[in-house]
Amino acid sequence: METKQFKAESKRLLDLMVNSIYTHKEIFLRELISNASDAEDKLAYKSLTNSSVEVTRADLKITIVPDKEGRLLTVSDNGIGMSKEDLESNLGTIARSGSGQFKAGLSEGDEAAGSIDVIGQFGVGFYSAFMVADHVTVISKAWGSDEAWMWQSDGAEGYTITSCEKQTPGTDVVMHIKANGEEEDYDQYLESRTLQELIKKYSDYIRYPIVMEVEDYRMKDKPEDAPEDYKPEWETVKEWKTLNSMVPLWQRRKSEVKPEEYNTFYKEKFNDWQDPLTVIHTSAEGAVTYKAMLYIPEKTPYDFYTREYQKGLQLYSSGVLIMDKCADLLPDHFRFVKGVVDSADFSLNISREVLQHTRQLKVIASALEKKIKSELLSIQKENRETYETFWSAFGTQLKYGVVGEFGAHKDMLQDLLLFWSSKEGKNTTLAAYKDRMPEDQPFYYYACGESVEKIARLPQVERILDKGYEILYCTEDVDDFVMKALAEIDGKKFKSVTEEDALPQTEEEKKATEEKTEAGKPVLEAVKEALGDQVKEVRVSAILKSGACCLSADGPVSIEMEKYMSKMEGGQPMKAERVLELNADSAPFAALKKAVEAGETDTVAKYSKLLYAQALLLAGLPLEDPAEYAGLVCSLMV
Ligand code: ADP
Repeated sequence: METKQFKAESKRLLDLMVNSIYTHKEIFLRELISNASDAEDKLAYKSLTNSSVEVTRADLKITIVPDKEGRLLTVSDNGIGMSKEDLESNLGTIARSGSGQFKAGLSEGDEAAGSIDVIGQFGVGFYSAFMVADHVTVISKAWGSDEAWMWQSDGAEGYTITSCEKQTPGTDVVMHIKANGEEEDYDQYLESRTLQELIKKYSDYIRYPIVMEVEDYRMKDKPEDAPEDYKPEWETVKEWKTLNSMVPLWQRRKSEVKPEEYNTFYKEKFNDWQDPLTVIHTSAEGAVTYKAMLYIPEKTPYDFYTREYQKGLQLYSSGVLIMDKCADLLPDHFRFVKGVVDSADFSLNISREVLQHTRQLKVIASALEKKIKSELLSIQKENRETYETFWSAFGTQLKYGVVGEFGAHKDMLQDLLLFWSSKEGKNTTLAAYKDRMPEDQPFYYYACGESVEKIARLPQVERILDKGYEILYCTEDVDDFVMKALAEIDGKKFKSVTEEDALPQTEEEKKATEEKTEAGKPVLEAVKEALGDQVKEVRVSAILKSGACCLSADGPVSIEMEKYMSKMEGGQPMKAERVLELNADSAPFAALKKAVEAGETDTVAKYSKLLYAQALLLAGLPLEDPAEYAGLVCSLMV
């Protein structure tokens, strides 16, 4: 009998699997049951399209048989079965889906713990049997064939295929379970209790009955002629039991699902060790019919802001999984949402490309988007603390959503945003900000900076607060872009406090500034000359109240944008057009003026550098020459 070698990749996979960490091993059962279920599906499908196949769904089942003495565990199905060629091509090499994903997650020479995690995440199909078995026999008879074949392997050394006897079509996978290791308990996989638990845990929703003969302990019937003092007697009976509920959670009524059930489902399905923040269980009937169960995680997944993170919902068609991560069901701004959608409106073997363009998919996606928003809004209203938790996990994502696609989603998202309020000393919604707004307030004000404390001390903030207006303190890089994208709400514009026209000037004020500019001209020119190209202009400030100087930007690029872009890797360096603003009523300005009038060029240069450096520091920008600045400051002391 010829022994055939596994393909090289398969060997590596086997190696990994056998040495994988212990807690992952139990998934082998889920994998084999899932294969069995697929085989049943294929036969059921065939019976729909081929009148010579007479099976009804009721006949289809998956059978589990543990045999402690022989250390054998068998998973059988009466599905489509495999021909000799099928066995060869399906089990002799790494096959499709599951193992394909595994391969994708595995880079060359990457046998470290990290990659082994992939097993836990995807499962790797049939091969996982070798995690718990040292010898595997697959006996299969393809539907419509009268030959049966036996595939055998003990993993490492390849496999054999021989002819054998089998009465009915379908497949038996017989595993010879390994002996217990020092730290590993393989015996449990022969225990009825463990098997029942694993099936409940991983395969409860399989649509075919998973049956096993289990021992039950029950009270004997009372004999007719039982004496007066008859004591009930107990007996052990063996009976075949269906171990899975076969009903997916999302098909059950909301009122019948316990919170723990929702949470357990979430944790198992989406590999989170924490309960979700909330679950949205929803359905629709009409133009498109679907049921959906969506989860919002409590914490930001560790890979959320990396390329590895893939958004998407699991898509089922009448209980059959047709796509694992259907990205088109979720807009990018809600890409943190996990969950499942089940709709009979999709055909089972619809291709990804076609699916993407179906009307149904778009209708469902748009309905879910609204649903997610309304759920978030109601949490925001009813449970602010929970909303704050959500916000700290995914608020940044929502802001990127506002900015992305040229602001196309801002109307959808603006009610969900939170910003720090100067008045409340905590986060506020834009709606609440608006409610508090005095009638004469011309703008939604915001100010950007590194921290709330630093922003509160910006020289430009003072005059707005003095008016009794509230400012949104923005500490995230993306905030300035968010405000620019929001632009306005109901005709009221967003305005950075650093902009010159942040407070509309009265005619008198305008005139005063003009006069000061005129009077200060020699000073402004001298400072500009001292600073050269570092600034575009030096002007008398209409913004400052008690501060001596500040930096502002002319043109479309704000200081905040410049800062943001300078952090981006490989991004185009964007430079704001820097303007140094001086407070003509301040003592430093008077000192400058004196120096200019006395013709003390060195002093003018020194003061100019000092003021510019301070403006940079206040704006949160780095000094070009900190040593020179330190020297200048010290020279003031002597
Ligand atoms: P996957 O299920 O991810 O494709 P597997 O390694 O689990 O990968 O299985 C490889 C292939 O072997 C399957 O795609 C299927 O065609 C076939 N197969 C496995 N188990 C069975 C079974 N019980 N009945 C029929 N075919 C099976």
